[in-house]
Formats: sequence, C-alpha cells, structure tokens
Amino acid sequence: MVDSLRSEQRSAVMSRIRRADTKPELTVRSLLHAMGYRFRVQMKGVPGRPDIAFPRRRKIVQVHGCFWHAHEGCSTFRMPKSRTDFWEAKFARNKKRDVRLEKAARAAGWDVLTLWECELHDEPLLIDKLVDFLGPLRADL
Ligand SMILES: [Zn+2]
Repeated sequence: MVDSLRSEQRSAVMSRIRRADTKPELTVRSLLHAMGYRFRVQMKGVPGRPDIAFPRRRKIVQVHGCFWHAHEGCSTFRMPKSRTDFWEAKFARNKKRDVRLEKAARAAGWDVLTLWECELHDEPLLIDKLVDFLGPLRADL
C-alpha cells in the first residue's frame, strides 16, 4: 500500500519534471509557428536529433533548459543542495554531450543557434534573434 502510493507520487513528480523540461522548447516552437517558419522536430540524421531543424536552410535551433544543461552564469540555475556529487557529474555529462553534438552538427554543415530557457521571456528580443539567425521567410524554405 505504502509502496504503491510512493510509486504514484514518484511518477507524478517525474511527469512534472518532464513537462518542465520540454516547456521551453514548446514556447519556441509555437513562436516560430506563429512567425510562419516551417521546421522539423527531432529530425533523424542530424547529430543529437535537434529540437528544431530547418533542413533547407541547414539550420538548427536548440533550446536548453537552464537546470538540465547547467547554464553557466545564469541567475535561475541553482546547484541542488543534496546529492551534489551526483548532480555535478550529471551536469558535466550533459554539458559534454551538448558540446559534442553541436560540434558534430557543425561538422556536418549545420548552423546552430542555442537558446536558453531564461532568454525566452523577452519575446521581442527572441523574435529578432530568430529572424537574424534564420533569415527572412520564404515560401520555398
Ligand atoms: Zn539560464
């Protein structure tokens, strides 16, 4: 009885974590959609299956949650106070993976824009960044 309650609580927490983790990506996707850009989600054949890919432009937008990707110098990132060794090792792995995948994508000819969760609140600035990176809307791209 106690165990099943525990596992229920655990899965409730896990689902909240997953939602919190994917939300920044959804924010950018719906903004891009509203701006009229067309893109692919988690495209196969590109290193790391990036969040958002523009195959004809050969461009990738990746959205990093400040917690899971341990955003350096970020005012919203806090190192967890318990199990610190575990988290430090995990963040180090995540960061290494981010660097490796971005290098692989660039080596394969993809241009990469990384957006951080904490940068998404300023919508006008975000729109400027996306347009600068992607270039103008065109029907054939
Ligand atoms: Zn941040």
